[in-house]
Amino acid sequence: MIELRTPTQIEQMRPAGRFVASVIKALSEKAAVGVNLLELDALAHKMIRDAGAESCYIDYHPSFGASPFGKVLCTSVNDAVLHGLPFDYVLKDGDLLSVDFAASVDGWVADSALSVIVGTPNEKDQWLIDVTQRALDAGIDAARAGNKIGDISFAIGSVAHAEGLKVNLQFGGHGVGRTMHGEPHISNDGRAGRGLKLRPGLVIAIEPWFLHTTDEITFDPDGWTIRSADGSRGAHVEHTVAITDGDPLVLTARD
Ligand code: MG
Repeated sequence: MIELRTPTQIEQMRPAGRFVASVIKALSEKAAVGVNLLELDALAHKMIRDAGAESCYIDYHPSFGASPFGKVLCTSVNDAVLHGLPFDYVLKDGDLLSVDFAASVDGWVADSALSVIVGTPNEKDQWLIDVTQRALDAGIDAARAGNKIGDISFAIGSVAHAEGLKVNLQFGGHGVGRTMHGEPHISNDGRAGRGLKLRPGLVIAIEPWFLHTTDEITFDPDGWTIRSADGSRGAHVEHTVAITDGDPLVLTARD
């Protein structure tokens, strides 16, 4: 079911968006050579407790998950790109880290992700991150009343194709509200002018993720962590966005 939020409800979603943005910012600042993924999870957990927020992940157990997630954060390193279960791993120079975080504040969820290079930057991974960010920006810009869901998908996919990247369609964006994952699904590639008409009050997570040289993925034995099938690295960025009468409102904007 597609649920539309009133302007008042969208105002009520702002604290969740601000909180999730603050956690993503803190994680990106803490991520450094020598930091353990479990320390990043612990930082996010402390911020949740301090804010009186609720994790969307810790008890999360969808049909594709092997068991409840057990952590509050996804950390995907190098050829891992989505749903990375934090484990005892110390970040190394040049690692490409994607963090994905969702939490509920005052009963409303926000969801955001960011990729960063740990330590010394390298051109190839920075390029992938930049393309993924441009795809997110294009998707957000298409999130306007009167457009269709397909316009968002097309905008994202067009950025990828122009750079020669393939797009996996198994995981994409989603509705956000009282829970983390709602209708509609927002594919990271598609045809303009197709699908549901966007109306003010629709709140969605837009989340392009691309791999350097493939669109095929494998699942780790942990049942969660998703990797590229060919070992190439991936990037993932995400914002929670409200469609309004005017410009799209990025609830998880970091300023
Ligand atoms: Mg997310």
